[in-house]
Amino acid sequence: MLSYRHIYHAGNHADILKHLVVSQICRHFVKKEAPFFYLDTHSGIGMYELASDQAQLNKEFDTGISKLMSDDQLPEPLQQYKEIVKSFNPNDQLEVYPGSPKVVDYYTRQKDKLHLCELHPNDYLLLASMFPKKRKANVVKENGFGAVKSMLPPPQKRGFVLMDPPYEVKKDYQDVVTALQDGHKRFSQGTYAVWYPVLNRRQADSLLNAVEQTKIRNVLLLELCIRETEEKRGMAGSGMIIVNPPWTLEKEAQEFMPYLQNTLAETPDAHFQIKWITPE
Ligand code: SAM
Repeated sequence: MLSYRHIYHAGNHADILKHLVVSQICRHFVKKEAPFFYLDTHSGIGMYELASDQAQLNKEFDTGISKLMSDDQLPEPLQQYKEIVKSFNPNDQLEVYPGSPKVVDYYTRQKDKLHLCELHPNDYLLLASMFPKKRKANVVKENGFGAVKSMLPPPQKRGFVLMDPPYEVKKDYQDVVTALQDGHKRFSQGTYAVWYPVLNRRQADSLLNAVEQTKIRNVLLLELCIRETEEKRGMAGSGMIIVNPPWTLEKEAQEFMPYLQNTLAETPDAHFQIKWITPE
């Protein structure tokens, strides 16, 4: 089943948390001269037209990225993320929103390599058209969970894996944990970031418990809920599970998570968590 289309949600609160964390991880990787490898298991189409019928349906970006674009007092990591979005919108109007492959590509150098998986046939073609230079980015119509086995460990020995499945089928919740284990077994020094939705507390906690059960160490959790979780159906928030995070990320999050809570809150019950699922 491949009915999920990310364009309906582009630039919402969940994208902000995810892409902000992706940006901070990339900044850490490019501090060193040595090249790095990026695997995006579920890439989407790379760039989202906010004037499209799909993005306009619920205008989720209005209560997400639009709020940050009009704020000049952002914490530094958010200011940097805003610069990325601005770089794709040279007319000073928010026309497009960059997805994870483009956020990473903003940072990558010629020597770095991207492996971008997208299973949906049309989305794959759109993504491939965004990355015509095959030497740098390999765009494949492949199951991203399988790529964790086939592409790791990378020859560069430095790498970052983003897993961002749609969770439209329950199996994604199990597959993402299995893929994390598979990846970590092959490439234990890699950085992994897993995005998850908070539809209700029970379902999110069951994923977090499964990650804890893997016994993988050095796992940081950042979660932002823009309203109370059990109040109504739909996505109350989302989180990022980060294995081997940059050592500065926890401290940075202590500044940007309160900002995100205040700015993106839908109700006064908005809240966040910063915690270690397992310490180093
Ligand atoms: N990571 C993207 C971003 O942040 O801009 C958004 C990705 S979206 C949440 C999930 C994408 O995964 C969809 O485009 C969907 O077609 C694709 N997809 C679903 N199952 C997949 C699989 N097993 N392997 C690769 N892609 C898959």
